[in-house]
Amino acid sequence: MLHPHTKLAHINGTIGNGVIATQRIPRGTITWVRDKLDQTISPERLDALGELYREMVVTYAFIDRHGDYVLCWDLSRYINHSCEANCLSPGFDLEIAIRDIEEGEELTDEYGSLNLEHDFTCACGRPSCRGTIQASDLLDLGASWDGKIGEAFGDIESVPQPLWPFVAEKERVSQARSRLCEIPSSRWNHFRRASV
Ligand SMILES: [Zn+2]
Repeated sequence: MLHPHTKLAHINGTIGNGVIATQRIPRGTITWVRDKLDQTISPERLDALGELYREMVVTYAFIDRHGDYVLCWDLSRYINHSCEANCLSPGFDLEIAIRDIEEGEELTDEYGSLNLEHDFTCACGRPSCRGTIQASDLLDLGASWDGKIGEAFGDIESVPQPLWPFVAEKERVSQARSRLCEIPSSRWNHFRRASV
C-alpha cells in the first residue's frame, strides 16, 4: 500500500507516468508496505495464466525473495526507478523515505533491489545514473543502500506514519528503530535463482 499523500502523474515522454507526492513526506516515513490485497503470483501460476497475462505481470510486478511475483493493487505499481531513489527497502516488506520528499516531487525506488529478470537501460537522468540496472546490483550496492536506510531509520518514530497499521513486522521494526536489533539488510530481499 502506497502512502496516501501521493498521486499518479505524467512525468515525461520518456518515462511516462509515475507517482508524485501531494504533500511533503519527511525522511523516515514508510512510503510503501506490502499488504494483504497485493497479489502474490507464483511462477507456476504465471505460466498457467499464459502470455497475455505474463506481459502485464512482468511489466507491473516485482519479484520477492522467494521468487514470486508481487502485483501491487494500488498506485505502487507505477513507482519508477531512479539511481538516486528517495525510497529504499530494508530487510522488511516495506520502503521508507531516505530523505525528505517535497510536494510535487516524484517518489522513486531502486529496481536493482527487485530481483530483475532482465537488465534494463536506465533513463533516470541523475548524475550518478548507473546506465544499466541489473539484479546483481542488490548484492553489489546493498551495503551502501543499507547506510542510507540506517540514517533514515532513526526518524521512524518521530514522523507521521499513516501506513503503520498495515506493517506486519511492527515489533521487529520498532526493535530495529531502537537499535535493540540490527536493521535487516536490503540484501534480505535477494532471490537466489537456481543456476541453469
Ligand atoms: Zn539511472
